[in-house]
Parts: sequence; structure tokens; C-alpha cells
Amino acid sequence: MNAFENALEQLDRALSHMNIDPNVSEQLKHPKREIWVSIPVKMDDGSVKVFQGYRVQYNDARGPTKGGIRFHPNVDINEVRALASWMTWKNAVVNIPYGGAKGGVIVNPKELSQSELERLSRGYIDAIFDFVGPELDIPAPDVYTNPQIMAWMMDEYSKLAGKNTFGFITGKPVELGGSQGRGTATAKGAFYTIEESRKLLGLEKPTVSIQGFGNAGYYLAVYLHEAGYKVVGISDSKGSIYNPDGLDPVEVMEHKKKTGSVVDYPGATTDKDPKATLYYDVDIVVPAALESQITKENADKVKAKYVAEVANGPVTPEADEILNEKGIFLTPDILTNAGGVTVSYFEWVQNNYGYYWTEEEVFEKLEKIMKQSFYDVLEIKDSKKVDMRTAAYILAVGRVAKAMELRGWK
Ligand code: GLU
Repeated sequence: MNAFENALEQLDRALSHMNIDPNVSEQLKHPKREIWVSIPVKMDDGSVKVFQGYRVQYNDARGPTKGGIRFHPNVDINEVRALASWMTWKNAVVNIPYGGAKGGVIVNPKELSQSELERLSRGYIDAIFDFVGPELDIPAPDVYTNPQIMAWMMDEYSKLAGKNTFGFITGKPVELGGSQGRGTATAKGAFYTIEESRKLLGLEKPTVSIQGFGNAGYYLAVYLHEAGYKVVGISDSKGSIYNPDGLDPVEVMEHKKKTGSVVDYPGATTDKDPKATLYYDVDIVVPAALESQITKENADKVKAKYVAEVANGPVTPEADEILNEKGIFLTPDILTNAGGVTVSYFEWVQNNYGYYWTEEEVFEKLEKIMKQSFYDVLEIKDSKKVDMRTAAYILAVGRVAKAMELRGWK
């Protein structure tokens, strides 16, 4: 099953517990609009290379569509469709006034020079310009895109629009209309969710293993370490490391910066399999890399009591069933990692106002939204006797469907 088929299966499971007008639910299974573009880029050697890009705008019933842009060699249209649908549900779970979208470009950005990366980023915006904007569709960072790329994209959009349009994109540098706290917001939001789950499950000083050491995985490791969790496993795309006495994420990052990877970190055992982190004997496993990491093939190997999905779509629907049977608690991506887009929303609000908040204000507002959403989902889990993912979907799909009905889309 591809990622979009997985996303539709998750949706179907939620719909089976709901009473939604079939004329509405049918529409929920199809992206509203897909933009496929070719992006010609002049490479440093003078040749032109053409990159393939996508933007999928899944549903805009609750507001302009919103979601990041991924630069990755394995991007494909079904992945972008899945990610766009997950953004739709995520924005509805935390109740921010957006629909969902996602963009992707098939590229390994590590193979490009900075100037090639800039031309690709600008070229992508040139290609999708007519279909995006601060009241239409608002992009942001995702895997392998960052604040500098957002700055170039904002600049390109502003040039084409003939005016500064900071609110076109979020995740910008703070010097250029970005929000305080956006850089660490996904990790911060995940931390709040994990803390509430930890209390619910009665875990004291839990051991944690994190797959993925990018923006989300790294900062989350730091927050958990500071809060007294013992981070014993960490992985990146090159492999996994394990130390039962605990790892200091800041030191592991220093090692990664020096050597290019977390592997062979002194004092830890290295496993060349990046998935090894998912199987360590820990209380909490955090997949914070890519989708479809825990599948029906390996779900049996997960020993944790709690899986916190910080990546989008890391657990397939078949694996969900296996984890459920094993009694493993799981907080789904559309709840756990919603802190990133929530602070993106704050950034857009601040851009629209031209009035900026302190980091303290941002995190205070974020904490409130994350905790509220956690307990909203938990309540549905208990009342409908479903798992946390299905509960989150029921909440989200209910909100999207209600907006569609009120608009007369049936
Ligand atoms: N790419 C992030 C996500 O998957 C953030 C999206 C945003 O800020 O719009 O949630």
C-alpha cells in the first residue's frame, strides 16, 4: 500500500464510527487540487536540469490550505497526497483555521550547491505562484527544507506579487517575519503531548529511543533529556546508536556535525540499521523521520509501552492493529507533531498584524492548544472505545465535515 492508500484506510476507519453524510464523506477521499510542475534550474556548470515538483491542496473548507514543502529524492505524488490529507486533519485536530496542503520536489538537496538550491526554491515558487498566497495556500518547511529556503521563497513570491508578502509562507527566519519559537515548535508541541501521555501511563523517568535526528527529533531529544527522561537510543539515516546509561543529545549532535552522522558515537553501540531505534527495550519510541517505518513486517519487534509519532505517517494501518493488540499506547502524528503548524499559524497571524510576540507568549499559547487537543482526543478515545488515531480522526473529520455541510458542499 502506498502512503495515500494508508491515509485513506485511516480515514475509513474513522468514518466507520461516524455518521457523516455520504455526499460529504465521498469528497473527503479526494484532493481538491493537484499542481504538477517541471522546474528548470540552471546548474553551476551551466547545464539546465529539470526537477519535478508537486503541490497538493487537499481540502480548504476550514480556511486557506496550509502545509510544508519537502525536498527529498523519494518524493512521489501519492506521498504528497497523503501528507496533504494529514495536514487537513492535523489543522482540524488543533482547531486552527486552515485546510491542508503539502508540496514536494524530487531532489536530493545535499547534492546541490547553495546557489543551485536557491534557484530551485525560487523556480518552484515561480511554477506554483498562481495557486498560492497568504489567503489561498501557505507553505512552510518540511523534510530537508529550512528557514533560509523559506526566506528565498518569500522573496520570490513578493517579487512576483509586487509587494512584500511575509504572510505567504511560514517558518521564515525571525529576522524576516518569522515567529519566535517556530524553529523548535514541532519538538515543543511533541514534548507537551509526550508529557501528558507519560502522566496518563504513570511512567516515571522513562527511557526513550528516537528515530531521526533532524529538526524535530533533535530538539525533542534535548527537551526530553532536560526534563529527566533517559534518551538511550538515537538514529539518523546512516544508523542507530544505543547506550543504556543515556545519551546527551547536544553531545551526540556535536559528533554528528563533526562526522556527518550519529553512528560510532563513543560509548554507544552502533547498529547500521536506522530502524534499530524502533526495537530497543525502552518505555517510549519516537519515530521522527519518514513515513511507513513501522509496518506489519516489523511491528512485532516494538517493545515500547508508548509510540509517539513525530514523523508524518510512520506507522501503517496494519501495524496500528498489531501495536493495538500488544496494548501499546500511540499518539498519532496529526496530534503529536501539530506544534509546528500551530506556531506557523501564530507566525501568519503576527505577519498579518505586523505585531510580534515573545517566545514566552508563543509557547504559552502552544502549550494550551496542545494540551486541549490531547484531552479532546482522549475523551473521544474513551467515549467511542477507539484508539488514539481513530479518535483524532473522528475529531478532525467531524470538524471538516461540519464546515463543508455549513458551506453547502453536499
Ligand atoms: N511540515 C510541518 C508538518 O508536517 C509543518 C507545516 C506547517 O507549518 O505549515 O506539520
